[in-house]
Amino acid sequence: MELMNQSVHLESELKKALAGNEFRLFYQPKVNLSTGKIEGMEALIRWEHPEKGLIPPAEFIPIAEESGLIIPMGEWVLRNACLQTKEWIESGFSPLVMSVNLSVRQLYQPNLVEAVEQILKETQLAPEYLELEITESMMVDKNLVIEVIKELRTLGVQMSLDDFGTGYSSLHYLNEFQIDSIKIDQSFIRNCTSNSYNSSIVKMIIEMAHRLNLKIVAEGVETKEELIFLQKNSCNQGQGYLFSRPLPAEEISKRILEIEEI
Ligand code: C2E
Ligand code: CA
Ligand code: CA
Ligand code: CA
Repeated sequence: MELMNQSVHLESELKKALAGNEFRLFYQPKVNLSTGKIEGMEALIRWEHPEKGLIPPAEFIPIAEESGLIIPMGEWVLRNACLQTKEWIESGFSPLVMSVNLSVRQLYQPNLVEAVEQILKETQLAPEYLELEITESMMVDKNLVIEVIKELRTLGVQMSLDDFGTGYSSLHYLNEFQIDSIKIDQSFIRNCTSNSYNSSIVKMIIEMAHRLNLKIVAEGVETKEELIFLQKNSCNQGQGYLFSRPLPAEEISKRILEIEEI
């Protein structure tokens, strides 16, 4: 009962937060591991609560999902991420692909493709600068997801499979879903230099991605040793605290120069 009250309370707080503009986007760079250049950013939502401070997505996304509030929240994320990308490109920071996370409910929303198309038009961002990240756990209705991915790609948007290795990981997916890239889950990157199981898994996933002509991204890169391991094994991109934590747009611009020195 107590828990239920809490979540009802949070839900009404979330509604107010959306109306009151309390959400913020942080950005985390995706770095090309052979050149060291930033090629993309991932938008990650934060809730700037007037009393409680910065609240991470894990604490409110599930409730936004359950209540359906994720739909307007997701559109807010898309719109703002596209606007920020446009701004960065216009200031000379290019090429830059912006990755936005989709939630299950968004993926199954009947007008997702129209909503994405509308936001691209409204923000005047060329579709090739947008990438949508989905996870294997979202593949409940396979045929529907195949269709949605196809339509999104027809718009010109790129598709990425996030948290790879943690879901059902049917290898059929990689063939049936027309994705452009895979992100190796951070749990495998953790200790991949000292743990031989993780090291084998990471090598195998990279190798597989190359054979399937998919771009391969490692998330959660925290140490120089992990970076060297990934470079040795020809991983295309990396993302993680070693390069930068997710930061507000203003601070990212400052980090850009420092990252190129790692
Ligand atoms: P994700 O998409 O797998 O994002 C990666 C998470 O790992 C982020 O947590 C990021 O801050 C964190 N991270 C990045 N590099 C490192 C590292 O080197 N070490 C460690 N320990 N962590 C690292 P965050 O921002 O708290 O987001 C958590 C999850 O919330 C995301 O996982 C994503 O599933 C969801 N999320 C975030 N923003 C959005 C959004 O706008 N929409 C939706 N639907 N989901 C979102
Ligand atoms: Ca993600
Ligand atoms: Ca992930
Ligand atoms: Ca995740």
